[in-house]
Amino acid sequence: MTATMPQVIAISNQKGGVGKTTTAVNLAASLGQLGHSTLLVDMDPQANATSAVGLEPDQIDSSIYHALILNQDPKVINLNDTYKNLSVLPSTIDLTGAEFELMDLENRERVLTRVIASLVFPYDYIIIDCPPSLGLLTLNALVLSKWVIIPVQAEYLALEGLSRMKKTIDLIQHKHNSSLQILGIAVTLFDGRTNLSQQVLEELSNAFPGKILGPPISRSVRLSEAPSFGKPINYYNARSIGAVQYMKLAEEVVHVCKKTSVGSGT
Ligand code: ADP
Ligand code: MG
Repeated sequence: MTATMPQVIAISNQKGGVGKTTTAVNLAASLGQLGHSTLLVDMDPQANATSAVGLEPDQIDSSIYHALILNQDPKVINLNDTYKNLSVLPSTIDLTGAEFELMDLENRERVLTRVIASLVFPYDYIIIDCPPSLGLLTLNALVLSKWVIIPVQAEYLALEGLSRMKKTIDLIQHKHNSSLQILGIAVTLFDGRTNLSQQVLEELSNAFPGKILGPPISRSVRLSEAPSFGKPINYYNARSIGAVQYMKLAEEVVHVCKKTSVGSGT
């Protein structure tokens, strides 16, 4: 069943290496497998999400950059033949310049909103992988999104930077997008055997009560090697712990989105 309005979810944290891309790709592919038509939007010039679904960024002639900056029609790549219900709006290295080039555009924080509004195919979910900064690319993602998921690594100083993230979200809510909400915190790179991971999980639960999504995502070799095969974890190794955990996370995301769209009356 396809809803009229897609649920738009930005995966954002200004810190690098916390599992944003891993979460974006595997959440998107899991939602697809659950039967929801899903668009993965790669807003990171590193194009890791693009290669993680098996595309070669070097060989892409029309990327999100061309749509954002050169005003071309967005060229969505449909991966449905290999990955159920999954399409991608890919990134390439060209996007590196976009932080600067966006500055000169009118409504520079709503350029992605315009691009996504021009898509004709109705998606149930749009998952946006953000770069590790709070610049204009991330701003464009958060202005468009209804939801943000913040991946946090279960590590020393995990909470550091989260207050910055929270402040940015508050600011965007007030200035640009009053419907933006934190969908939840995805705890990543979790090692249940260590006290540290447990402690960090506890701290996060205290700081964001009721906002910790699904099970923590365990640190696992399968999750780290899947991108080099260009496959989301549920296709690379469906029985692995990472596949099971990301599927649970996707189910919870669906649950939260359903609950609010029924309850809010909007
Ligand atoms: P970000 O997008 O926030 O920079 P990534 O998702 O690219 O973070 O993750 C950083 C690195 O950690 C990547 O090499 C990725 O494969 C690896 N990684 C992410 N999550 C896990 C996990 N749960 N287990 C093992 N490796 C992971
Ligand atoms: Mg990334």
